Amino acid sequence: MITGIALIEGLFLFAILMSSLGILSQSRKQALVTRATSDVRLFATAAANALVSDDIGALHRILRQVMRNHGITYAVARDGSGRLLARAGHAVDSAHTYRAAASVVVDGTSYGRVEVEVTDRGFAPILAQASRRIVAIALGEMLLVGFVSWLFGSYLMRHIAAIEAGTARIARGEFGFQLPVAGSDELARMIEGFNAMSAQLKALQDEAAREHQQVLAINERLEERVHERTEALALANRELEYLAMHDPLTGLPNRILLQDRLLQAIRLGHRENAPFALMVLDLDGFKEVNDSLGHQAGDHLLRETAARLVARLRQSDTAVRLGGDEFAVLLPGVANAEDTEVVARKILRALEEPVLLGDRRVCVTASCGAALFPTHGDEVGVLLRHADRAMYEAKRGRRGFLLFASAMDEEGDDRLRLQVDLDHAIRHGDLVLHYQPKIDLVTGKISGAEALVRWQHPVLGMLPPARFVPLAERTHLIKPLTFHVLRLAATQARAWAEQGWPLPIAVNVSAVDLDDGEFVDSVERILKDAGVAASQIELEVTETALMRDPERARAAIQALSGFGVHVAIDDFGTGYSSMSYLRKLAVANIKIDKSFVMDMGVSSNDSVIVRSIIDLSHSLGLKVVGEGVETADTMAVLASLGCDYAQGFHLARPMDAEAFDAWRQKHL
Ligand code: C2E
Ligand code: CA
Ligand code: CA
Repeated sequence: MITGIALIEGLFLFAILMSSLGILSQSRKQALVTRATSDVRLFATAAANALVSDDIGALHRILRQVMRNHGITYAVARDGSGRLLARAGHAVDSAHTYRAAASVVVDGTSYGRVEVEVTDRGFAPILAQASRRIVAIALGEMLLVGFVSWLFGSYLMRHIAAIEAGTARIARGEFGFQLPVAGSDELARMIEGFNAMSAQLKALQDEAAREHQQVLAINERLEERVHERTEALALANRELEYLAMHDPLTGLPNRILLQDRLLQAIRLGHRENAPFALMVLDLDGFKEVNDSLGHQAGDHLLRETAARLVARLRQSDTAVRLGGDEFAVLLPGVANAEDTEVVARKILRALEEPVLLGDRRVCVTASCGAALFPTHGDEVGVLLRHADRAMYEAKRGRRGFLLFASAMDEEGDDRLRLQVDLDHAIRHGDLVLHYQPKIDLVTGKISGAEALVRWQHPVLGMLPPARFVPLAERTHLIKPLTFHVLRLAATQARAWAEQGWPLPIAVNVSAVDLDDGEFVDSVERILKDAGVAASQIELEVTETALMRDPERARAAIQALSGFGVHVAIDDFGTGYSSMSYLRKLAVANIKIDKSFVMDMGVSSNDSVIVRSIIDLSHSLGLKVVGEGVETADTMAVLASLGCDYAQGFHLARPMDAEAFDAWRQKHL
């Protein structure tokens, strides 16, 4: 750039120099012309007389005089017709000469003309010196200008180069550096501005870096959290999967896992011709242990059974808890009846060993049935059903172990069919309720009704609860059954209330229902949905059901009475509840089991029992119902013993709602 500027300046100066020289040469020419013009005029004036008088000698003298003048190279004089009269010197006729002519006119007559050639040689040295000076001055100027330009340019360029380098550093992403500032001119201010920009950029960069760090940290934390959550989820999933596949009490695989293993065994069996045996085991008398020694003892027994099963099996075998006191064992490689029986007997012997429950040694036997793949089936459901059938038969015949035989199947099919039908009946409303009245022994008035379920079976006719309630209790059907009955009873209670003769209806609840943690909530919701007051529904729970898990039952009863549903203890006298336990229960009524009431007439023992139940209940502030009142005598005795209510065939059999309405009308 400096070179460029210097070059342009040089060119300018050169042009100035050239024009100066041009002017100089122009001036020289001008001086030459002026000189020649004045000389020729002087010459003409001097030569006028000589021409007029045609004095050639005089002309020559004048000519010599003229030639003495410095710088004249040539002079001539001619007459009027142009003839040469006199001449001096020689014409050079070059760029350094100028020729001028003048006519000699006297009184209007031309007497000739004179010519003079003048050369600049006379003032050439002066001109040359002037030119040299001009050139020298111009060169000096050029040098000076060049030097100043260089000085200024390099000063400028130093700063520009510094800024340029700075910009390059900024372009590379280096911020925050400062350029040295000298002076206070515009450049210095520009560099200061640049420095401020660099500092600002650095601050921005730092802030961006800090933010980036923060984002990174947040990201990292997020990733960690996501990772933790994923791990926790995976763990929870594994736990859930484990829980879904295992029985929490014994830790054994459950029915779902067994079905999966069975399916695999069947596939493998088909592919590789690998037989296996499936066993189903059921403890004998488990219910008694549970009822008499309590839930905890029952749990302990189940755990012990599981442990013994696992201990007797090979690693490739699978022991499963199917539910309740039912277990299953999958035995890969066991192909025939003999081998199956050997394993079964070994397991049964192990289970028969006494178990220490609390401070009591209890001997529990088990029944076992087995089915072989592929002989007795090649489907999961079929094999399970057949092994179950065989177990059922073994239990019924007290045989310990039985291998499935096709003859067993028909009866088993009946059971299964009944289960399917019951499921259908609950869904489609084939269950009906019959109502049996309860009488107040003091006033003789109807004080309530007990709802008793019946199944209007399409083929088998009207079935009593004994035919299907136990089946429902053994399967998953009891819950829907209980709630269905509760809904029917609630609807009926509401209808009676709307007809103007409200009557509390008692509904029977199974022991299994109380195991359901949501039971109480479900009851409350059903009553609410039916739009019936809680006081219109009473629940009957058998004493043995209460004793299965006294604490849970107590809590459930407490919650039920909390929202106004009365609970009665049914079949009282058959369980072994203690006074102290009864005291803790929020029950309203006690129903003496009908076996005591019916036999009161013949067994003095029973009347003692009935009397003490009544006294005990009254001392706890409870009302007593005598069930199974078949005769007027029994009713009279109950009344004399202070029993509060009576229920039985003597008063009325259970009847459908319509018959009940008719009976009630008559009774009033
Ligand atoms: P429970 O609760 O003890 O019901 C009384 C049973 O005794 C009824 O039998 C009733 O018909 C019968 N009974 C009433 N008075 C007399 C009498 O004077 N003499 C004799 N011998 N029997 C009388 P039912 O209807 O066959 O019910 C049997 C059992 O089935 C009930 O015993 C109850 O435990 C159960 N049950 C009935 N309905 C339901 C229900 O909806 N759900 C549940 N879980 N169980 C029910
Ligand atoms: Ca009952
Ligand atoms: Ca009863």
